[in-house]
Amino acid sequence: MEEGYPKTTNFNRICVFCGSNSGNRDVFSEAAIQLGNELVQRKIDLVYGGGSVGLMGLISQRVYDGGCHVLGVIPKALMPLEISGATVGEVRIVSDMHERKAAMAQEADAFVALPGGYGTMEELLEMITWAQLGIHKKPVGLLNVDGYYNCLLALFDNGVKEGFIKPGARDIIISAPSAKELMMKMEQYTPTHEHVAPHESWQMKQLGNYPGQENAE
Ligand code: AMP
Repeated sequence: MEEGYPKTTNFNRICVFCGSNSGNRDVFSEAAIQLGNELVQRKIDLVYGGGSVGLMGLISQRVYDGGCHVLGVIPKALMPLEISGATVGEVRIVSDMHERKAAMAQEADAFVALPGGYGTMEELLEMITWAQLGIHKKPVGLLNVDGYYNCLLALFDNGVKEGFIKPGARDIIISAPSAKELMMKMEQYTPTHEHVAPHESWQMKQLGNYPGQENAE
């Protein structure tokens, strides 16, 4: 564990969704490493999709090298080294993508999406949807590196304007251009949106709240 920083966060473990590619510009790799640095400085462990490809490899290596725990949750079909590369830290092998996402969600106190493709966007949208439904009350952060997600955020705003997304639910997504700013915003987050169904009525009770928010309604 790197020295010099007290634990100054509500979070014990954050789930990071990110590209299995690194993108065409260095700024994306730099952002993955910066997010890794923020986790290490705050002594926050990582759960991610396993493997060493793309941004996933960069952040997992950084957090592992910084002395925090890394849990990679990987479906059996993606295990071969030529698909996902070597994994650092603890590896949990699961049978399919549904099991993987449920395990990642269960293990984390909060979620962050770095730039990525369809896989990252799907994982981000699922956690936003689960927050809207009331399945969990964990913060969902979007690291909007160099405006990569501007169009997606504009689409969400259009969803509000056209009456498909409630204004309160728009606030589920916490976005920032830098890892430091994003972490600070997520640490201050209190869910205020209406839930479609009460938290208690969902079978996935194990998804719980994040530390410090156990009694939040
Ligand atoms: P994408 O954003 O489309 O690159 O997909 C990223 C997400 O898809 C990751 O978080 C993983 O869940 C999954 N994924 C896609 N390709 C791979 C791979 N080669 N190895 C491991 N996971 C992958």
